[in-house]
Amino acid sequence: MMKTRIAEIIRRHRRFDIISHEGPDADAVGSSRGLAFGLLALGKQVRLLYPTQVPASLELTAAPRGDMPGEAEVTLLVDVSGRSLLGDLVPKGTTVVIDHHKSNAGFGDVWWVEPGMSSASEMVYELLSELGAPVDATIATNLYMGIFGDTGGFMHANTTPRVFAIAHELCRAGADPHFIAYRMKKCRSLGYFQLLSLVMERLTIQDRVYGSYLTEHDMIRLGARAEDTAGLVEEMASVAHAELSILLKELDAETVHCSMRSKDTRGALLTAQAFGGGGHDRAAGFVSQGRVRDLMIEVIEEGVKWAHTA
Ligand code: 5GP
Ligand code: MN
Repeated sequence: MMKTRIAEIIRRHRRFDIISHEGPDADAVGSSRGLAFGLLALGKQVRLLYPTQVPASLELTAAPRGDMPGEAEVTLLVDVSGRSLLGDLVPKGTTVVIDHHKSNAGFGDVWWVEPGMSSASEMVYELLSELGAPVDATIATNLYMGIFGDTGGFMHANTTPRVFAIAHELCRAGADPHFIAYRMKKCRSLGYFQLLSLVMERLTIQDRVYGSYLTEHDMIRLGARAEDTAGLVEEMASVAHAELSILLKELDAETVHCSMRSKDTRGALLTAQAFGGGGHDRAAGFVSQGRVRDLMIEVIEEGVKWAHTA
């Protein structure tokens, strides 16, 4: 079993880099910090790295000591579905992947990929149990945050009995469900709601496919930060009639990111794959060259093909 093999690799080495994906979300931060604190508690040396900055809204605990002298023997990639999500970071030594994305075909030297897991945080919980690492309140808070994020606050189809069993253990270890839910759901910036209003005003609707977009100019005009866009596509997907929701965002003068959600079909994944992206059946995305208004038409057209495919 891969989990046992990875536990063995961790036991046999001392110096680890831990990396999660660019544009880190709650699961990326929670799983990587949880793992970092767990390994530190086992007496390991750890350096924690992200290709792009951690948003302050996900700093629910102090950061683990993030550096160590010298080079890692093993690099642990958590919640990373492919090399393209590492930015300029290059894994050193034996590269181990711990991930739950269905689109992850495996890479590096050793990979443990379980699409049946709600989150990388759930996998880290299992790994720390295997290692016999003590789970304190700091680790519990980070792992609970990651599970909360990737299950949409215990609402998505990945909310299994095991998720609740682990959440129960994490609460017993000191994770505070009210504090975490409050920080994740009730501390939105005003910018978020201004962007939401713009996104809803601009909806294009075709055959239960809902599309909208944000330009670079919108972000500048509203003084919004990149992290203010997290969660917008979930709001589009909250419309009862919407089956597939598509949100396009300009990243720079040439590049657009697309976030998608589907409800009862694999529309999100199948549409993302048509543009070279990936993700999960019901939450997927891609990056493309182009401008949002042109791409909007193309992606909706593609989405209509897939949004009715179970
Ligand atoms: P979000 O919409 O929250 O940014 O991403 C939801 C899921 O879609 C992510 O967990 C990831 O699996 C997938 N995803 C989002 N953006 C991309 C992308 O640019 N490329 C790939 N391959 N997957 C993406
Ligand atoms: Mn995840």
